Amino acid sequence: RLVDATSQTPNEESVERALRPKALEDYVGQQTVRDQLQIFIQAARGRSEALDHVLLFGPPGLGKTTLAHIVAYEMGVNLRQTSGPVLERAGDLAALLTNLEKNDVLFIDEIHRLSPVVEEILYPALEDFQIDILIGEGPAARSVKLDLQPFTLVGATTRAGMLTNPLRDRFGIVSRLDFYSHDELARIVTRNAKLLQAEIEPDGAAEIARRSRGTPRIANRLLRRVRDFAQVKGNGIISQDIAAQALGMLEVDPSGLDLMDRKLLEAIVHKFDGGPVGVESLAAAIGEERDTIEDVIEPYLIQNGFLQRTPRGRVATQTTWRHLGLTPPKSGAA
Ligand code: ADP
Repeated sequence: RLVDATSQTPNEESVERALRPKALEDYVGQQTVRDQLQIFIQAARGRSEALDHVLLFGPPGLGKTTLAHIVAYEMGVNLRQTSGPVLERAGDLAALLTNLEKNDVLFIDEIHRLSPVVEEILYPALEDFQIDILIGEGPAARSVKLDLQPFTLVGATTRAGMLTNPLRDRFGIVSRLDFYSHDELARIVTRNAKLLQAEIEPDGAAEIARRSRGTPRIANRLLRRVRDFAQVKGNGIISQDIAAQALGMLEVDPSGLDLMDRKLLEAIVHKFDGGPVGVESLAAAIGEERDTIEDVIEPYLIQNGFLQRTPRGRVATQTTWRHLGLTPPKSGAA
């Protein structure tokens, strides 16, 4: 499990669930993915068939789990949820698969972390809705084929590149989730403020949206913290001023970068002269896992022009130098 800026406590998880949109029409943004799913779901329903297997990839907190639940809701079926690292033995997956009802959705989060033996079981299940299981032990053991109900696998991963080719090839629908625009995040914040019965001004929602790293889960978390701040330090109304003060206290800067972002950028600039620096050296310098850097921190920094990934390593951009209040070097770094 990645420990990152988007991870949450059990209590926050139940609030998250309450804020999670249930139907496709309530799912904000990701227009392409939404349009495609809408058609494929309608077609599958029309034929009373299971939807083709769906692979969703993109950084944490962008709505992969939410979309898996929406697929089940729109198909009118049950959803079973598990994750790659939880499925240790082949039998764990076999038990899940044999309990699925017709056209159910099986959601596997972090699907790139499936063990090879579990993945082996999955192939025939995905292709022919069959599994081979071993009954008995030692010389008396024999392999038995079991028929499964048709089902839809929805797999989620932070990077599609981490899946083995045979697994990736078995998904008929492959969708990439992108960071959300400020407008989209403002819509999410406004809707959720209503659900939380908090009064919010449009400028207040915009301020939170701008500083949420393009990520709905972060927007939801910041909204809750700003709501606390408004209640204690203000009159309960989330105005732009209150939002800005609260976010400053949370050390989210006006560009929306958080402590981890700044720690990484400062390391590149101060310890490695702006780069290029390899991701392993960077991981050691800031004491973070390489995976966390690549999956959680970097994508947003790259997309927003703070960081470049070059063959020789990571390079801080001029934007980064200026953001840290420094003069960019004349030559060398980007
Ligand atoms: P992931 O599985 O990609 O890590 P989640 O599906 O858990 O992300 O999303 C985190 C939270 O963000 C959800 O609980 C939901 O409240 C919110 N969220 C995500 N995507 C959307 C969206 N498109 N519209 C509205 N809220 C969303």
